[in-house]
Amino acid sequence: MRDGAVMVTGGAGYIGSHAVLALLDAGWRVVVVDNLVTGFDWAVDRRARLVVANVADDEKVRDAIREHGVTAIMHFAGSVVVPESVSDPLKYYRNNTAASRSLIESAVSEGVKHFIFSSTAATYGVPEVVPVREDSPQLPINPYGMSKLMTEHMLRDVAAAHPLNFAALRYFNVAGADPQGRSGQSTAGATHLIKIAAEAATGKRGHVSVFGTDFATRDGTGVRDYIHVSDLAAAHVDALDLLLAEPGKSHFLNAGYGRGYSVLEVLDAVDRVTNMKIERRMEGRRAGDPDELVSDNRAILEALPWRPKYDDLDRIVTDALSWERHLASRQ
Ligand code: UDP
Repeated sequence: MRDGAVMVTGGAGYIGSHAVLALLDAGWRVVVVDNLVTGFDWAVDRRARLVVANVADDEKVRDAIREHGVTAIMHFAGSVVVPESVSDPLKYYRNNTAASRSLIESAVSEGVKHFIFSSTAATYGVPEVVPVREDSPQLPINPYGMSKLMTEHMLRDVAAAHPLNFAALRYFNVAGADPQGRSGQSTAGATHLIKIAAEAATGKRGHVSVFGTDFATRDGTGVRDYIHVSDLAAAHVDALDLLLAEPGKSHFLNAGYGRGYSVLEVLDAVDRVTNMKIERRMEGRRAGDPDELVSDNRAILEALPWRPKYDDLDRIVTDALSWERHLASRQ
């Protein structure tokens, strides 16, 4: 067992629940704070404690920090639907920016010295240069990306003023599920490509729409850097060790594999893995989709001992499908 406990906000959600597993497997004590609006209590491993609360509920959060001896916070809680952030921006500035501000203030006032934040490649907007480096201009094109960028700025300023260091991991396209089948993407109303394709493969939907075939990419469809959720979770555990080892230093790190796949390549992988031919419907572009979003991941590989274990599109798709079948069998 390690000294102290890690508070995981959003630990009942998709990425957070995988981080909980990775932390527990690494010997950490874990306290989850989740309001269960989009997360599920059953997604929280039994070895972790669950506090049902909003991260902006200062009293409950501070009590939990004290009661469990929390020494670090991993902050996953937030709203994540990009089009919704356009139609309801204040929800994103409340749930992402303002809630993060409260949580960071709770961390500072309770003397929590390490903070890991779920940031996003959406903070780059439409990058001019791909693969994208961490020092590229950050010009988000939607309130979701802006709400996360504002939190990055708060963390930078707070770390300069208080004894707290942080790692902001900028996620690229997160997909897949725990290889041991303990968690996966369970939220209804999926919009992400691999989840949608997995739903089509299990008969939950009839086809997959391909949004745009005229992008400036090798086959005209959008190219993204898909990272397995368990590799991403493992990166958080290593980032925490780095923060503990070098207290004066903070980090902005891209979390991706540094390689892109087009929509059609992803759908080919799904057909390959399932031995099916899922119907594809060519449709127009979705608003705000860049042609290509691929990480330059040299900084994270340099900063952390982390090496991806599941850097394989077929593996990501296989694990996503296993989880989808598991969900289907529960209904
Ligand atoms: N996409 C698609 N059909 C879908 C969902 C997504 O063609 O049903 C495309 C989307 O236009 C983008 C890529 O798949 O090029 C990844 O989209 P996703 O929503 O998974 O993640 P994003 O990159 O938007 O965060």
